[in-house]
Amino acid sequence: MKGLSNIALSVRASTTLAVDSLAKQMISEGRDVIGFGAGEPDFDTPDNIKDAAVAAINAGETKYTPSAGTVALRRAVANRLAEDCGVIYEPGCIVVAGGAKLSIYTALMALLNPGDEVIIPSPYWVTYTEAVRMAGGAPVVVDTSRGGRFKITPEQLDAAVTVRTKLFIINNPTNPTGILYSGGELRALADVCARHDIYIMSDEIYCNLVYGGKKFVSMPSLGEDIKERSILINGVSKTYAMTGWRIGYSASNSGIAGVMGSYLSHSTSSPSTISQFAALEALTGSQDSRAAMLAEFEKRRDYAVERINSIEGISCIEPDGAFYIMIDIGEQIGRTLGGRFISGGDDFALSLLKSGLVATVSGAGFGAPGYVRMTYAVSMEKITRGLDRLEAFVASK
Ligand code: PMP
Ligand code: GLU
Repeated sequence: MKGLSNIALSVRASTTLAVDSLAKQMISEGRDVIGFGAGEPDFDTPDNIKDAAVAAINAGETKYTPSAGTVALRRAVANRLAEDCGVIYEPGCIVVAGGAKLSIYTALMALLNPGDEVIIPSPYWVTYTEAVRMAGGAPVVVDTSRGGRFKITPEQLDAAVTVRTKLFIINNPTNPTGILYSGGELRALADVCARHDIYIMSDEIYCNLVYGGKKFVSMPSLGEDIKERSILINGVSKTYAMTGWRIGYSASNSGIAGVMGSYLSHSTSSPSTISQFAALEALTGSQDSRAAMLAEFEKRRDYAVERINSIEGISCIEPDGAFYIMIDIGEQIGRTLGGRFISGGDDFALSLLKSGLVATVSGAGFGAPGYVRMTYAVSMEKITRGLDRLEAFVASK
């Protein structure tokens, strides 16, 4: 038989979702695994949102919608972006898709020609490099350092640009490091992109999860020229605990939005109608649940950071936002833990899962092999027990 697509064969499966599946399989076999793997809020979707979905079903809102989402939802997204991010878009510049992941992929399909280079700072969210490959592009990874709080500098960005560079992807606050770029840092990076005529994809899905009173700044809010070359990515998964509803969105210039809409019209037809009604309520209804979830995440972050830094042989920086911590396991490399020689994050995460019964994600998939990532989007009780186990695992011979 003839071979499969070369592009498809070059794509690695999502390591975050793989860990989640393995942990869930172990739990279904009766093992008491604590899951710090895939990042999704443990909170239930707020009742007003669930009720809106039920009402939509009962009202017969069960048919196709326009490919880029209902007019009401696109307007609601534009209003929410204005309020949360201080950036004004016409509803026609908003494209709703079946999750921010699909928004990212569709935007890449709209932007990239074969071989176009896309600059991605590392550590990066696992999907960026693979989605770029899926769209025929070439990821160009730029390493950052713990000493520089994992932020790409304008000089590093400038040095990575070639004649083939088309796009720069920034995720703010960042998965997996949790760091937040300031307005000044974003502007300096945007200036490099403007100088070289490069598009900017700004994934701001964690924009409402920022702690310690720090201020989030949205990339396209920095000025008309920056907005014109930016594709803003956001969605309801994280802010409203709606990961399974699969609603994400992008905001861009109308040319890019139009192309994305055409692509979606031939792939998903439209996002789930019922989920769109739920998302409409999330964006326009009471926002009270957001503050409660934010306060709880901050408490968990504070506890987990302090606890990790009290364990000998591992450490972390304090994240500013999102709900992840990168645990530096550099000192564990060369040891044998749980009967496994530790040569990096892959061994550490696998051994910790199998013998310590704690699921984390190896940093390797994020471009940071000396780390493992944990999420604190789980209950305080689980965080405490999971970190007890991590401490015992690291202390074992
Ligand atoms: N961007 C980042 C940085 C993420 O961590 C996630 C989480 N899966 C997404 C986008 C996609 O979110 P979703 O597809 O659930 O909207
Ligand atoms: N974004 C989450 C994570 O990084 C969910 C899993 C995924 O979509 O990759 O864990």
